[in-house]
Order: sequence, then C-alpha cells, then structure tokens
Amino acid sequence: MTDKFQVVVIGGGPGGYVCSIRLAQLGYKTACIDSRGVLGGTCLNVGCIPSKSLLNLSEKFYSTKHFAEKGIEVGHVKLNLEKMMKNKDMAVSTLTKGVEFLLKKNKVTYIKGYGSFKTTNKISVIDNNKKEKIIEAEKTVICTGSESISLPKVEFDEKKILSSTGAISLKSVPKKMLVIGGGYIGLEMGSVWSRLGSEVHVIEFLDHITPGMDNEISKEFLKILQKQGIKFHLKSKVESIKKTPKVITVKISNKEGKKIDIESDVVLVAVGRKPNTEKLNLEKIGIELDSKKRIEVNKKYQTNVKNIFAIGDVIKGPMLAHKAEEEGIAVAEIIDGQAGNVNYEVIPGVVYTSPEVAAVGKTEEQLKKDQVNYKVGKFSLMANSRAKTINETDGFVKILADSKTDKVLGVHIIGANAGELIAEMSLAMEFGASSEDIARTCHAHPTFSEAIKEAALAVDKRTIHS
Ligand SMILES: Cc1cc2nc3c(=O)[nH]c(=O)nc-3n(C[C@H](O)[C@H](O)[C@H](O)COP(=O)(O)OP(=O)(O)OC[C@H]3O[C@@H](n4cnc5c(N)ncnc54)[C@H](O)[C@@H]3O)c2cc1C
Repeated sequence: MTDKFQVVVIGGGPGGYVCSIRLAQLGYKTACIDSRGVLGGTCLNVGCIPSKSLLNLSEKFYSTKHFAEKGIEVGHVKLNLEKMMKNKDMAVSTLTKGVEFLLKKNKVTYIKGYGSFKTTNKISVIDNNKKEKIIEAEKTVICTGSESISLPKVEFDEKKILSSTGAISLKSVPKKMLVIGGGYIGLEMGSVWSRLGSEVHVIEFLDHITPGMDNEISKEFLKILQKQGIKFHLKSKVESIKKTPKVITVKISNKEGKKIDIESDVVLVAVGRKPNTEKLNLEKIGIELDSKKRIEVNKKYQTNVKNIFAIGDVIKGPMLAHKAEEEGIAVAEIIDGQAGNVNYEVIPGVVYTSPEVAAVGKTEEQLKKDQVNYKVGKFSLMANSRAKTINETDGFVKILADSKTDKVLGVHIIGANAGELIAEMSLAMEFGASSEDIARTCHAHPTFSEAIKEAALAVDKRTIHS
C-alpha cells in the first residue's frame, strides 16, 4: 500500500523541518523525508551549530591563555581537543534529537531515506538498506539544501583536503592550515584553528575578504584578523594543489603575478556551496533550474510544476539557515491559502568571529549603485563605556539612512556581540524606523547597544560621546 500525504517535504534542515511543523500546525497531513539519518540538515549537523560551538570554545581557550594580562593568573592552560570535540558533538546531538521530538509532537511523519521524483506526485524513498518505498504527495516542498564545492581536480578527503565538514572534526591541531576562500565559512574556521594554535593563511581571489560585505567594514575586519595573526594572500589565485603523505603544496599566482608555492599540513577549501538538485530526478518531471542549478521559483516558491515548491539553499538568495526557516513558514502558509511572505530587504547576516560582524539591509556600495542619496552615522566602540570596561574596543557601528526621509536603509556592525545587536536593527527596519527613532530610544547603560544609539545620533551629526 502506498502512503499518501497532503504535503511531502524533502529535506529535514532548517527550511524543511520548520516548513513541516508549520504545515502540521495548519492541519496538513505532512511527511518529512531526510537521507542523513539525523534531522537538522547542514545547519545543525555540520554547519551553524558545530562551527559556533568550536568558535565559542576556541575563543574561551584563547582568552583564558591571555587572562594573566588582565590580572587573572590561571596557571598553565592546556587544550584537550578530544573533549572540545565531544562537547561540540553533544550540542549537535541534543539539538538534532530536539528536532525529531518537535516533528513527533506536531505529528509530522519522519521518513528516513533518499527521496526522488517518480512522477509529479509520486516520490521514491530509498532507505539505508536500499529498500524502496513509494509515497504519494498532493504537494511537495523541496528543501534539499546545499553542499560544499571544491576546486577543479581537487577532491575532499576530509583529512588533509577539507571541506567545512572536515574542518569541524580534525583530530589534532594542524601546525599550518591554508584556507582557500575569504568568505565567512573560511574565516570562521580559520579563526577556530588559529586560536587553537595553527598558523593560518587565507588565499582570496578578490582584493578584499567577505564579498558582499560593506567595504569599510570588510577593511576593518581584515585589519583585525591580521592583528590576530591570520595571514592573508589577496588577489591570489590557486593554480594547483599537490598532496604528498607529509605535506600539501598549493601553488598560487599572487597579486604581483608571481607563482609561489605554499606548503601546509591541511587545506580547507571554502569557495562556496552548490544546491542539492542533482539526484532528485527533476529533469524527468520537467522542473526548471537556473544557470547555477538552483530551482527556479515564483514569488510563491512554486516551481514551473504547480504542485511542487522549493525553498532554502536550493533556491536563490543568501544561503543562511534563518532565510530557509522564514521561507519554510511562508511556503506552508501560502500552501494554506494565506499571504506568507519573506522581507528579503531585512535578512541579517552574521560572521561569528571575534569580534563578530553583522549586517542588515543595504551596503554603501549598493546604495551608490542604486543612486540612492544617503547619510552615514558612525560610532566607534573605543568610545563605548561597556566596550572599554571589558577590553573589547575593536570595531564600530555604521548606520545608513535615506537623506530625505531618514529611513534606515542598512546597518553594519563590527564588534563584540554584533550578532545579537543586529536584531534590534532588523526589528527597527521591519517597522520602517528612521535614524531619529533609534536615536530617541532609551538604551541601557553601560551596554554595547548604546553604540547603536550614538551611531543613529551621528547620522544627524549630534553624537554625545565622541
Ligand atoms: C560550516 C557552516 C557554517 C554555517 N554557519 C551558518 C550560520 O552561522 N548561520 C546561518 O544562518 N547559516 C549558516 N550556514 C548555512 C546553513 O547551514 C544553510 O544555509 C542551511 O542549513 C540551509 O538550510 P536548508 O534547509 O535549505 O538545507 P540543509 O540544511 O542543507 O538541509 C537539507 C537536508 O536535506 C537532505 N537531503 C538532500 N537531498 C535529499 C534527498 N534527495 N532526499 C532526502 N533528503 C535529502 C540533506 O541531507 C540535508 O539534511 C553554515 C553552513 C556551513 C557549511
């Protein structure tokens, strides 16, 4: 007998599991298929969660080693990497089990196995024992996420040549790590291993790191990371990677056009991710993809096949867990005939290094390109009392507001707690706040959030503390 569902969700990551729960809340008989064996997708298993655990613990290790400079003498600080990894794994397993519990609580049927289309409403699921089961779906939501891409002729072995998945599970601290790609994943993982003792080199093709980030913030970020000891090779292209049992040799052509060899113990390739659309049999049912192999959808997340929808990393837009989650809720509500909607102008992005970097809305470069007249308000953390008291004075807050209406168009923060601070500005932007609104909001003292208030005051050139 074939199992029948009103909606089948393929993929149990942040997009898929959230979508399944919302559908079940709305009364739909829902199934969620995932092939990983554990729910939570990339984010919980090999992405956001394990990387943030290691970022936190490596930061604690690093700062504990430097406590003596601030008057706390703790003696010899020793790293136990195995325990650190176990702690990370525990965070992952608690959270993934939590997702399984949530699906059960909401009466979503969780089907373990690999899904692909037989027809537009029949899905084949192959389990671990290679047994096939066919399920019927009135509607399907594809949330199969993405995976790391490598360079031509370079294969991940996850021991010496790593994707981010290998980089969160190393068994020992490499003497030297070479990171290819200066995006957020490369810089977060580079920071982890640099704090734990590796000599980290980052090779970036562009003349700046973190493409898409506001230029001024990106420059400051680079300076801070360099100060922390990470070495950068900008405007450099990887020509080849040669692996021997002892060492990996990466040939790059640098900004002067010279070819140089860099030897390293491990290489992390962090040059981007590709959507998981290859093995779903999409061509058989006629689903259209764009030039980057992402699924084409309309504003209602509907593919060209009417009863099939797609969200998250498999469609265009930033590859971020919270974007996938918002889309998961929106598509469930759209399927229910409601007006599900995601405001793409207000999707925050955070880099969880130390200090953190966070942004929401437009960069200065985008506003210039769109020929929007804007005002800038900036406030340095050097002048923020909380930052001073806890020795976290690196960074600043930058607010971009429309010259005429004063409406906030973008906010960029580099500094401690930036990832938490950006929430206030996302909310402000959702409500269409002006910089004046923020400047007149009482912020607790002494907090980092006062730097936001001061940056808002700076838009009108009336800061108090600088
Ligand atoms: C190292 C790293 C750090 C990251 N840090 C952050 C962060 O701090 N913040 C943030 O917002 N984002 C972060 N991301 C990105 C984030 O993980 C993704 O944007 C997010 O997981 C996308 O969610 P999704 O539901 O679209 O897909 P995924 O999370 O990729 O989930 C898709 C699931 O579908 C399964 N699947 C695929 N094909 C099939 C099939 N045919 N049948 C059944 N199952 C299938 C996959 O195994 C997977 O479990 C990070 C990513 C990485 C790699």
